[in-house]
Amino acid sequence: MIDHNTVERIMELANGQIVDVVSDFVELRRRGVNYLGRCPFHDEKTPSFTVSPSKGIFKCFGCGKGGNAVNFVMEHEQFTFVEAIKYLGEKFHIHIEEEEETPEMREKKNERESMLLVTQFAANFFIDNLLNTDEGKSVGLSYLRQRQIRDDMIARFQLGYSPQKKDALIQEAKKKGYKETFLEKTGLITVKENFKGDRFRGRIMFPIHSLAGKVIGFGGRIMVTDPEKKYAKYQNSPESEIYHKSKVLYGIFQAKQEISKQDKCFLVEGYTDVISFHQSGISNVVASSGTALTVDQVKLISRFTKNVTVIYDGDPAGIKASLRGIDIILAEGLNVKVLLLPEGEDPDSYSKKLSSEDLKKYILDNETDFIKFKTKLLLDDAQGDPVKKATLIQDIVRSIAVIPEPITQSVYVKECSRMMDISEQILLKEINNIKNKRLHDAEQKARRERMLRSKDSATQQNIPQQKNTKNPLNYDERVVLRYLMLYGEIVLYKEEPEDEDGEETPVTVGEYIISELKKDNITSDNHLHNLVLELYEKAEKGEGFTALKFFVNNSNVEISELASDIIGKEYELSKIHARFGGVPQEIELLIEHVPKVVTELRLKKTKLTIQELRLKLKKVQEEGRHEELVPIMEEIRKWDRIKSHISKELGGRTIV
Ligand SMILES: [Zn+2]
Repeated sequence: MIDHNTVERIMELANGQIVDVVSDFVELRRRGVNYLGRCPFHDEKTPSFTVSPSKGIFKCFGCGKGGNAVNFVMEHEQFTFVEAIKYLGEKFHIHIEEEEETPEMREKKNERESMLLVTQFAANFFIDNLLNTDEGKSVGLSYLRQRQIRDDMIARFQLGYSPQKKDALIQEAKKKGYKETFLEKTGLITVKENFKGDRFRGRIMFPIHSLAGKVIGFGGRIMVTDPEKKYAKYQNSPESEIYHKSKVLYGIFQAKQEISKQDKCFLVEGYTDVISFHQSGISNVVASSGTALTVDQVKLISRFTKNVTVIYDGDPAGIKASLRGIDIILAEGLNVKVLLLPEGEDPDSYSKKLSSEDLKKYILDNETDFIKFKTKLLLDDAQGDPVKKATLIQDIVRSIAVIPEPITQSVYVKECSRMMDISEQILLKEINNIKNKRLHDAEQKARRERMLRSKDSATQQNIPQQKNTKNPLNYDERVVLRYLMLYGEIVLYKEEPEDEDGEETPVTVGEYIISELKKDNITSDNHLHNLVLELYEKAEKGEGFTALKFFVNNSNVEISELASDIIGKEYELSKIHARFGGVPQEIELLIEHVPKVVTELRLKKTKLTIQELRLKLKKVQEEGRHEELVPIMEEIRKWDRIKSHISKELGGRTIV
C-alpha cells in the first residue's frame, strides 16, 4: 500500500510533466500550445494524438482514448494503478513510502526484490557468455545462427548461454557479491546433500519476463549432451516467489502492446515459435511454454484482447490432445480461432519458409473458428460410426456449453446442427443438461467454501457494482461538469452584503453549480457524475487549490479518467460557443454561460421527472390502483411549479 500523499505527489508531478512521460513511448512534436504524435493505441498514418502540457492530459481524436499521465502509462504498459504509480515514482525519483508495512511484509518485499536482482544478474551473465566467450560463440551463438535467429531478436528476447562448467554462475555471483541463498531461491542453482551447482549447464537460455519486463525465470535448451546421461531437451526454472508457471506467458512483455493494438493474440507452443513470429513481423504472439494452458494465462491475455488464435502444428494427434485446453479460453468469453499449419510444419519452420507478407496472408486465409474446426475434425474421425458420433456430439456440446455469451452460443448451435445433421432442439436440451449440472456442482462447491470461510472475509463480498444505466442527460451533465472542472475555483459573482457594514461574499463557479444542482434534490443516473459533485464539495480548497488539478490528479482512477475525457473534448467547447454566439474568451463569459447551462440542466431534469411521473400515473390508472393516484398527481403538480420557476429563471425562454 502506498500512502495517499505520495500518490498525489507523484500524480501531480507526472501530469505536470505529461509530455516527458508520453515521450518515453511516443514521438511528439510541438503544435501550438499542444504536442502532437502518432497514437500508440491504434494504427494511424496522420497524427491525431494530442498531449496538452497545460492541462496534463492526452487525447486521441482518432480512437477516442484519453486521460492523464497515469492513465497513459496504465493503458500503454497495461499496468494496474499501483504499478503505474510505482513506475512514475521511479521515473521522477520520488521515494515511495509504503503504508502500514510490517517487518514481515518488508522482508518479503526485500526478498522478492533481491530475487529479481539475481535473475537480472544471471540474465546478463548468460548474455555475456553467449556473445563474448569462445564456448558461448561456438556452441550457443552458432546454433542460433543455424536456426536463422537474427541478432536483433537475440537482443529483444535477451537470449544467452549458460556454460558447461559446473559452477560458472555461482563463482561469478560470488565475485559480484550476490547471496547464494537467492540463487537457490530462484532455482538458478541446485543444492542437494552432496551436490551444489548451476541448474542450467551447456544450455541456450531464454529469460522469461514478467508483464512489466522483469526477468522472473528461465527456460534452457540443452546444447551439449553427455552420452552417459539423459537430459531433458528443455529445462525450466522451478516455481518460486517470483515465478509462477501457471500465471506467466512467454513473450507477453514483448507482445502486450501489439496484442492491444491488433486486438488479437496468437498462441503458440514454444520459445522459438514466439521468436520466429517476431522475426517475421508478427509480434502479437505468446506461448504457454511447458504447461497446459491455464485459466490465469487466459485471463492475462484477456486483459489485452478478446480474440485468440491458437496455432497448431499439422499433427492431428497433438491437436486432439490439446482440444480440451481450448475450452478454457471459450469459458473466459474469448473468441477462439484455430490455425492449422501444413503437415510437418511448426510455427518456427513455417515462418522461415514464407515471407512476412505471405505468412500473414496464410494466417488470414486459413484460421477458422474453433467450434467449426473441432466439429469437422471429429466428424472426419467418426465417419460412419454411430457410437463415435454420439460421443462426438457430447464433446462438441460441452465446448459450446462453456461459452458465456448466449448469442454466440446460439450461433454455434445453429452451425453445429447443420454440420452434424442433428436438430437444434436436441443440442439445446443437451446444453441445458450440462449447464444445470455445472450450476449444481458450482452451488455445492460454493456452499462448502462458505462453510470453510471465516466471518471477516465474508464482508469483502459486498463491493458495490457500477450501475449500468443509459443516462438521457449525459451530455448536459458533462457540459456542467466541464465548467466545474475547468473553472471551479474562479469567482463567478459576489453576493451583496446583508447589512450596510457587511462584506460581499464571493461565490465560485464550483459553489454555484453545487448549490444550484442541490436545489431540486435530483441526482444523476450516472454514479460518477454524482461522485464528482460529492468529492468537490468535500475537498479541502486551500491555497493553490484548482479544480482542474483536483480532478485530473484524483487518485480515484475513474474520476481522473472522466475528468480527462470531459476536459479533453474541446469540440464540446466549440459546440457550446456556437450556441452562445461563438465567443473565444470563455473565462470572461462564465457569468453568462454557467447559470444558463446549470439552469437548463435543472429544467431538463425536472421535465424528465414529470415525464416519468406521468407514465407512472398512467400505469396506476390502468391497474386500477386508485388510492395511489392522488399522491402522484400532487407530486406532478409540485414539479410543474418547479418547472415554471426554473423557466422564469431562464428569462421566460422555452427550452425544448
Ligand atoms: Zn488513437
